[in-house]
Amino acid sequence: MNAHLRQSDVLIIGAGVIGLSSAYQLLKAGRQVTVLDARGPGAGSSHGNCGTLTPSHAPPLAEPAALRRALAWMGRSDAPLYIRPRMDPALWHWLIRFALRCRGAAVEQATTARAVLLKQSAELLQQLIADTGMQCEYRAEGLLYVFREQRVFDEYADLPERMGRLGLGATLLDGAAVRALEPALNDSVIGGLRHENDAQLRPDRYVAELARLVREAGGVVVEDASVSGFERRADQVQAVVSADGRRFAARQVVAAVGAWSPPLLKGLDLQVPIQPGKGYSITYSRPQRAPRLPLVLKERSVCVTTWDSGYRLGSTMEFSGYDDSLNPRRLAALERAAREYLLDPVGESVVERWQGWRPMVFDDLPLIGLAPGYANLWLATGHGMLGVSMSAATGALLRQLMLDQSTDIDPTPFRPARVVTRCD
Ligand SMILES: Cc1cc2nc3c(=O)[nH]c(=O)nc-3n(C[C@H](O)[C@H](O)[C@H](O)COP(=O)(O)OP(=O)(O)OC[C@H]3O[C@@H](n4cnc5c(N)ncnc54)[C@H](O)[C@@H]3O)c2cc1C
Repeated sequence: MNAHLRQSDVLIIGAGVIGLSSAYQLLKAGRQVTVLDARGPGAGSSHGNCGTLTPSHAPPLAEPAALRRALAWMGRSDAPLYIRPRMDPALWHWLIRFALRCRGAAVEQATTARAVLLKQSAELLQQLIADTGMQCEYRAEGLLYVFREQRVFDEYADLPERMGRLGLGATLLDGAAVRALEPALNDSVIGGLRHENDAQLRPDRYVAELARLVREAGGVVVEDASVSGFERRADQVQAVVSADGRRFAARQVVAAVGAWSPPLLKGLDLQVPIQPGKGYSITYSRPQRAPRLPLVLKERSVCVTTWDSGYRLGSTMEFSGYDDSLNPRRLAALERAAREYLLDPVGESVVERWQGWRPMVFDDLPLIGLAPGYANLWLATGHGMLGVSMSAATGALLRQLMLDQSTDIDPTPFRPARVVTRCD
């Protein structure tokens, strides 16, 4: 073998939750797998996210109320959704296609497909943790939406019934009941909604544990290997080349680079309609009166997660391209929201201020399957706000498709060819 050429059955680019879950599944099926990452496991969005596992989030972002909310928040740089005004044809094309999806049958279809993937993922992840003893502070006790405004609470009155139709449990709680369930809330909270099938974990631990499982199963994880080019012939990717000149060849290649998919896959003449949806989090030491359940502070769209090892406020969605700066106004908005709802809104010391790019497809469905125009290039990306929640089922589905096995769920809604084009 050429000293600079590593050969494997499967080469996965990207060591986030999606690349590593896929690697684990393929290793367990007896394949030799190499995973490359520009930095290392969990260098991207998989690191500082909120760590909630949410079948309850089956309804997509593209839904009728999204446009109304987006217009109300327009131009406010500390609003939960912010679109930085700029000339970016790809972003405007994405936004128009997003707006066209916010109606009727498209919303129903996306909700059903997402629910199937999310529910299967929740089951597989619980099983994986039970089988392997992964230490990632997993707890399956549900998630709580909390409300301070009656008008907003009333908008969710039919959610238990809608969740029931998806096979998911949800219960409305009045102010007294929600504060009794979660004494960390202050008196301004007037209602809540408990999603019974949701769970939580600590995402940086989850990624580290996945990387450990991959290595223990015989996989190779190569760090500091930023893929900058490809060798291809017709519909075959023959090798990928890293920025420092190393070549990696494989029979099958998987691109699992999340928000980096468009720039990377441009090198293979693929147009991928993903926008980086920037989010922020602040991790603290654990406050004294920390909530036990993960919370969504509904009027502010801020998520609160507590682990034995810490406490995190996170969320906000910003479309500002590949800008990795930390905007103090948006970080401050997280703390301001927590102060409105919680008795002890922040921990004594800040451990980390973080931003990450969610890989957002305009139809809010991930891309799992063969890349159009290629016979050995697979995509596993575009998981938007739910990559952790969908990771286990994505790995399983990708393995079944790649090995030509029968699939547990219908892969059609996730086919990349629905939105990705090869244009050479
Ligand atoms: C604030 C915030 C909160 C969130 N909360 C939740 C939540 O509670 N629950 C949930 O389910 N999801 C949540 N998400 C979404 C979730 O984090 C993402 O959907 C998920 O992490 C995507 O995983 P991924 O593996 O596709 O991408 P990433 O984790 O971004 O991994 C991509 C990897 O590819 C590597 N890479 C990129 N380019 C190259 C290259 N050229 N060569 C080699 N490697 C490369 C990167 O270094 C990176 O490690 C949240 C996201 C944010 C930002």
